[in-house]
Amino acid sequence: MITPDIYFENVCPTLDMNIRSELYSVNDFTFAVAVILSAQATDKKVNEVTPELFRVAPTPAKMLDLGIDGLKSYIRVISFFNNKATNIMKLSEILKDTQGDDWKFPEQYHSRDALIKLPGIGQKTANVITNVLWGAPNIGVDTHVFRLAHRFGWVDDTDNTPDKVEQKLLQKIPKKYHPIVNHVMVLHGRYTCKALRPNCVNCPVQKWCNAKNK
Ligand code: SF4
Repeated sequence: MITPDIYFENVCPTLDMNIRSELYSVNDFTFAVAVILSAQATDKKVNEVTPELFRVAPTPAKMLDLGIDGLKSYIRVISFFNNKATNIMKLSEILKDTQGDDWKFPEQYHSRDALIKLPGIGQKTANVITNVLWGAPNIGVDTHVFRLAHRFGWVDDTDNTPDKVEQKLLQKIPKKYHPIVNHVMVLHGRYTCKALRPNCVNCPVQKWCNAKNK
C-alpha cells in the first residue's frame, strides 16, 4: 500500500521541485493565461504557442492592444480557442493597470475565492494558480491527480468528482505536502504512472504499490 508519506518521500527526490509547472510563462498574468489555455489541452500544445504570444502580450494592457483577433491568431491550434480568447480579453480588461512586464496579481486576488470571480477562471484553474504562485494548500484535481488517487486507494468509488477527490485528499494527505500535491502527482502521472501502460519498472514507489491495473 502506498501511503502519502511513502509516496511523497520517494517520488519528490526524483523530480525537480523548483519547476512548479511545466507551462511556459513570464509573470503571474501569463501564467494565468497559460492555465486558462491548458483546459482540455496538453501543456505541450500550449507551450508551442505561448512564447510568441507572451513576447508581444505579457501584460493585460498589451493583451488588450493585441485585440481578440490578434490573440486568436496565436492560439488557433488550441482547443476551444474562441471561448478562451473571449475570456482572456475579459480578464485583461479587469486586470489592466499600469504594471510593467513583471506583472503580479494584486493582493486582492491572492485567494481562490477572489480568482474564481474572474472570467475564464474556474475552481481547478484557481487552485493551480494559487498553488503554484503562492504555495496555497489546495489541490488542483486534474485527470492525473484523479486517476492516481483512485489507483493508490486514497479515495474510493464514491469520490467521483474532482471536488470530492480534493476534499478526501486534503483529509488524507498530511498538510506539509499540500502545496506540492498537484505538481508531484501531475508529473508522476504524466511520465511514469500513466493511464495506459504505467512505467512500473522505473517507478520509485513500485515496491509499495498494489494497484490492480498496473
Ligand atoms: S507506475 Fe506502476 S508501480 Fe508506480 S505507482 Fe503507478 S501503477 Fe504503481
